[in-house]
Amino acid sequence: MNKPVVGRFAPSPSGYLHMGNLLSLLLAWLDCRSLGGELIFRLEDLDPARSKKEYSEAMISDLRWLGLDWDRGYPEEPQYAQSARTELYEAAFETLRRRDLAYPCWCTRAQRLAAASAPHPGERDRDPGCPCAGLTREERRERLTSGKAPAWKLRCPDEKVRLLDGHYGPVEQNLRRDAGDFILRRADGVFAYQLAVSVDDALMGVTRVVRGRDLLASAPRQKWLIETLGYPAPDYCHGPLLTDGEGKLSKRLGSLSTQVLRGQHRPEEILGRLAFLAGLIDREEPVTAWDLLPDFSWEKVRREDVRFEAPGGPANT
Ligand code: GLU
Repeated sequence: MNKPVVGRFAPSPSGYLHMGNLLSLLLAWLDCRSLGGELIFRLEDLDPARSKKEYSEAMISDLRWLGLDWDRGYPEEPQYAQSARTELYEAAFETLRRRDLAYPCWCTRAQRLAAASAPHPGERDRDPGCPCAGLTREERRERLTSGKAPAWKLRCPDEKVRLLDGHYGPVEQNLRRDAGDFILRRADGVFAYQLAVSVDDALMGVTRVVRGRDLLASAPRQKWLIETLGYPAPDYCHGPLLTDGEGKLSKRLGSLSTQVLRGQHRPEEILGRLAFLAGLIDREEPVTAWDLLPDFSWEKVRREDVRFEAPGGPANT
């Protein structure tokens, strides 16, 4: 029997939804619904300093207004918010630590940035970018008792991870050389995105991860973490990004936030514009998400990024 399909919405409430977020959520919805799957809403409010209730409420209201529904999760089930899942991340983190796959790192943010992509090819035992990777057991113990709380990093294996992205094709990454050791837990105790998202996708039984292609490079790390924790990895399928001509849309871009566009357009106009720009329909016209479903296919979805203009403006592709 085929495994049941489980997809997810996983927005971070660190700003209002913009059209780029919305395109990824629309693709996740179409993918999951077209496969007859169950769709989860997980709130990625991992970072307490950046997450706001005002944003999560606006996101939920926007998705409902647009007719993008889900089957379980936040807000009815508060355990689908990452802020309520710390114990689960803690357990996974302990598993990695026990297996000597995590090490404490006292580097400053500036040191870390400087070292970010510098692992030397062929170096086997430590990430040369991080001096903390090579500390002896005694040195580590001494520093751990010295008072300054460390961040914790994953000791990346010198191992190739391969996956077949459903839209962009084969991806291959040597974790140590191409990704490098990465943060699992920050010095302030907050768990990092890569760990949390992997634990959540694993424990929630997610089988389809659909999101923007800016996260494609993270997929091998997540696949490896999920499998290392003993779970089957989901299928990954990334979609194009929306740009404003200068780069990827960001949450700070007020004018293309769903909240603003909601005041000016009907939901069908917004979905029609997004669907047209993404390649899902040949002619721009108002549509509901359900209208798009019968003919949905990843083959139609563009691979190159899409320049967005609000409905009514030029469809500048
Ligand atoms: N929470 C992330 C975001 O809003 C998405 C994470 C994911 O889909 O893996 O950008």
